[in-house]
Amino acid sequence: MNKSELIMKSRSLKPAKAATATLKFAPGEHIRVAPLHPAKPNKSIDEISRSRRAADEDDNDLFSGTPHAAPANAHLTYNNGPLIPNCQIYTIFWGKQWGATPVSTALINKLNAFFKAILVSPLMDQMHEYSVPGQTIGHGKFIGTKKITANAPVGSITDSAIQTQLKAWIRAGIVPKPNKNTLYFIYLEPGIVSIMGGSKSCQSYCGYHNHIVKTYYAVMPYPTCSGCLGGLSVTDALTATSSHELCEAITDPIPGSGWYDNVNGEIGDICAWTFKTVAGYKVQLEWSNAANSCI
Ligand SMILES: [Zn+2]
Repeated sequence: MNKSELIMKSRSLKPAKAATATLKFAPGEHIRVAPLHPAKPNKSIDEISRSRRAADEDDNDLFSGTPHAAPANAHLTYNNGPLIPNCQIYTIFWGKQWGATPVSTALINKLNAFFKAILVSPLMDQMHEYSVPGQTIGHGKFIGTKKITANAPVGSITDSAIQTQLKAWIRAGIVPKPNKNTLYFIYLEPGIVSIMGGSKSCQSYCGYHNHIVKTYYAVMPYPTCSGCLGGLSVTDALTATSSHELCEAITDPIPGSGWYDNVNGEIGDICAWTFKTVAGYKVQLEWSNAANSCI
């Protein structure tokens, strides 16, 4: 990731450092997405045989399609903004296909069970190191779920349309009103492309989190491309990318104003597409300043 098209403009409390040599995106812009799984290289036969010889020598397997190691210089810095200390998740499954088949109902149940378990799991304990005075990060809770078919997107949905709809749901009492700990997770149905800042799901990203002032939400398109499945099942891909966005929203709910690395992005970006299993669910590794590694 770190391509300019992945990035949305965001008001910044602090301009990005002027390290232009290593800066991978423009100052004042902040990454908030789960990037695509790194693609396998598209190379000529000559390049491939050269790469094979090189791989034998330096153990650099260009065919693995595996994520790059976390950058050695990664470090998250706190920019004095809000965190989500005890995250309360409300899931929204938006579209007619959700719950219309046993498979989709099972997926809804699985994702809700994932949040129930993960919000009281060691993954949340891991976030504790990013506590700041007055904002101690601890366990959260799953507070509810809703299937919504009204106004379901057809074809695609922009982030601004998501914001308009989320505000309308809150106003109408269709979803609970937010507090400082609320994080809405909006799951789109198969076939719906998410559009944010001119970028598209399955083309540039696999999910993102954002905010409307201090209302926090994440948008998770249904993974239908190899870049967002990364060789995983749909369920595992969704819990993994959801954990990426969850940890990013907790530590940086207003992108760039919480814990952020001006070169490498948010907590999940540094460790994208590296996994572990927590409470029986596939989750992504997250950057730890304390351990100086993805844990
Ligand atoms: Zn991210």
